[in-house]
This record gives sequence, C-alpha cells and structure tokens, in this order.
Amino acid sequence: MSLTRSVVVGGLVLVGDPLTAEFRRADLLIEDGRIVAIEKDLSGLDAAIIDAAHRWVIPGFVDSHRHLWQTTMRGVTANWNLNDYAWSIRTHLAGLHDADDVYAGQYAGGLDALAAGVTTTLDHSHVMNSPQHSDAAVQGIKDSGVRALWCYGFYPCPQQHPVFTTTDDRLLDARRVRESHFPSDEGLVRMGVALSELGVHSFSETVREIGTANSLSVPITMHTQCLWVQTRAQEVQLYAQAGLLQQGQIHSHANACNDRDLTMLRDAGCAIATTPDTELQMGVGYPAFRRATSLGLTAGIGADIVSNNSGDLFTAMRILMQHERGAALQPVLEQSGLDAVGALPLTTRHMLRAATLLGARALGLESVCGSIEVGKAADLVLLRNDRLHLRPIIDPVDSIVMQVTTRDIDRVLVHGRIVVQDGTLPTAVERRGIQLIDVANDRLAKRVAPLGGWKLTTPPNTIKTAVASLN
Ligand SMILES: [Zn+2]
Repeated sequence: MSLTRSVVVGGLVLVGDPLTAEFRRADLLIEDGRIVAIEKDLSGLDAAIIDAAHRWVIPGFVDSHRHLWQTTMRGVTANWNLNDYAWSIRTHLAGLHDADDVYAGQYAGGLDALAAGVTTTLDHSHVMNSPQHSDAAVQGIKDSGVRALWCYGFYPCPQQHPVFTTTDDRLLDARRVRESHFPSDEGLVRMGVALSELGVHSFSETVREIGTANSLSVPITMHTQCLWVQTRAQEVQLYAQAGLLQQGQIHSHANACNDRDLTMLRDAGCAIATTPDTELQMGVGYPAFRRATSLGLTAGIGADIVSNNSGDLFTAMRILMQHERGAALQPVLEQSGLDAVGALPLTTRHMLRAATLLGARALGLESVCGSIEVGKAADLVLLRNDRLHLRPIIDPVDSIVMQVTTRDIDRVLVHGRIVVQDGTLPTAVERRGIQLIDVANDRLAKRVAPLGGWKLTTPPNTIKTAVASLN
C-alpha cells in the first residue's frame, strides 16, 4: 500500500504541552496518520496540501467520559436531577433501546463529537442489553470515525425479558466482543470495560467484573463516589481495601471524594474524569477537578451525556473553569473581602491542557494523542482566527478558551484523515447520521408514550434504594 502523505501549511501551531507551549508558525508533515515532521516551511514537499493560513492548529479534544448511546434522546434531561436520570434513563429508557437504536446513538454521537473537534472519547457504554447491542455499539462508534476507548458496560439494564440473566452472561459476552471486534490494541477504537455501579449487585460481582477486565487486558472505568447519600459507603476505600485500585483506571466524577480518597487514587495511578455540566446540574456535587489536579491526580474533562448538554468541550472548559474560580473565591470574599483575592486558581491553559493532553493521559493514550508532537497521531483541530469576534488577539489560548466556539472550527483530522471540512461533516455522512437518529428517536418516543413520556414519575429514595446493598 502506498504511503498517504499530507502537509498542514501556514498555520499557527500549538506544539507540545498546552500548559507551556506557545503558538508558532509551523508546518506539519503527516504520513500514514502520524506527524513525522514539524518544521518552519514544508510547503515544497510532494504531499497533499492542507491550507492552515489564518488558522490555529490545536490537538483534537479528548473527552474522558461520555455515554454516546444517549444521543438518541438529545436534551431530554435538561431540567432533571440525578434521581430523575437514574429512574427514567438508567432504569427504564435504557431497557427500551434495541440494537438499532444503539447503533444510531453511537454513530450520530461519534459524528457529533467530531463536528465539535472531539477527536477521542471514552465511551462508557452501559446499554449492553444483548450480544446484538454490544455488536451495534462497537460498529456504530467504529463507523463514525472517532478515536475511542469504547468501554463495555456490565450494568444490567432493568428489562422485562432480559437476554442476559446473570453476571456470567455479560462477562462472557465481553470476552466474545474482545475476541471478535478487538483482536489488537492498535486500532482507532480500543476496548475497555465499564463496571456496574457499586451496590447494583454484590461486591463479589464487582470483583469478578474487574477480574474479567484484567484477563482481557483492557482498561477499566467506573462511576465513582458521586452519590450524596448519607449512609453511602466510601467507594474508593472499599476498592482500596480489596486491593482493586489499579493503575490506569478512570474514575468518573468522584465529587464526593475527600482529599484522602483523591490521594489514594493518585497513588494507585488512577485518573478521574470531571463532567461539569451534568455534575453541577443534577446534584452530583461540585466538580473535583481543582482539588484533584492540585494533589497531582490526573483529571480529564467530559461532556457525559448529550441527552443533557452539548457535546463540545469548549463549553465544558469554560463552565468548569468559571465554576472552580467562583467556588474558590466565594469563601475568601465572605471572610476577607475583595482585597484578599489573589491569583485565580485555574488558568485558561490549565483548561486547554485538561481537555487535550490530560484526557489522553487519563485514557492511557498519551503516546498516541492529546498534543501535537512528532510521533503522535495527526488528531488536529484547525480553528479560524480571522473573524471579528476573535479580534484583536492578545493571547490565543485565552481566545480559544474564552471566545472560540464550535462555529470557529474549520477542519478536524483524525489520524490524518479530514473528517470535518469548512466546518461541516461530509454531507452524505451528516445526512445518514440525522436520518438514523431521527428514526431511532421516533421509535423510542412510541415506546415511552404508554409510560407517560420521557420523564417518568420518580419515586422517592430512588438512589438510596439502588445502592442499599452496599451498606
Ligand atoms: Zn456517566
């Protein structure tokens, strides 16, 4: 097979760690999906030209926690709290999704991510209602073209007539999926597993889920310590006591972790994923991001669910940064007034780094993506910088975090392949995504109608009941 070669010419490129790098005029030579040279002028080479004049070139965003399948229900949870979400989506609507719905959610969700400059995502895929669902979930995300750590969810979605009736059924299916869809760990989409929430079943089942992940040699993610229930056991300590905190685990949310828990995660080589939109809205608690990073724990950012919020990380970066600033400043203001307010606790550079390099580190993909460097994949976002709402430009990183939105995206590349051009997905691809997702949503709307609609009446103590077995 002949070498595919392209060169990104004339852009202002953020080379290296976004925390410390400065934008500079540079060209990028890409061969077979990888960046092989970064030089001042590579315009004379025999390669396809990607014109980056009047563009910033930044690494593609890396989302560290997302549930792609919920693209079938966009925006439905906009005014819901976590009890509503747990009851309606996790306990009812998940079980109503058939394999075609899951394919549609995965495919359209992957495209949605790409269109927003998210070139890599961790997909916590907890709608594995049958082997057909698992196959559809993998196929949908693979067909979308996004880079991903796709995590097989062991969570048993409540259903009237479940296909999987035991934990063993799911563990065996995960093994089948590993063998049939992920023969190597080199593909654009790699496999992980997503544990059932603690308390969904007995702890010994969790131990078996982790054992299966280890025997399949795949990374583990889980929702960790994000429930504010008075009697809730301390999950991090529970994992630690059982010797189950392991290098490479991605613990999503972790809002109810104290500094001791976060330190334990750090020392075990784990990472956390913060999803500011859903956490702040639903009663998951203040994001743990700033506390975690100040302790040296790797923390990525995620969009979580587009059944609630947008799938872009520009929004997530800004909400998270401003929330963390506000939460840090308020006690200072109350105690000592404005004169006591010093340097802000987070900067725009911290956010851009979290949405790129730290996300890649959390996912175990730092050698592959997350920054622009020779040897890494050409996962790139080209942002227009020639528009009025961005002028004048004093510090490009400040502009990107504070002013840029998805409308400024010009091109997106994944492994050197252009997936977004002139700000849009290819017309036929976008049309297919829209058609699939609209049809799936119609099917689901018909199924939820007899239940009274998307939002069911949430019984009291939903979460408390669901996690009772832990205590
Ligand atoms: Zn989640």
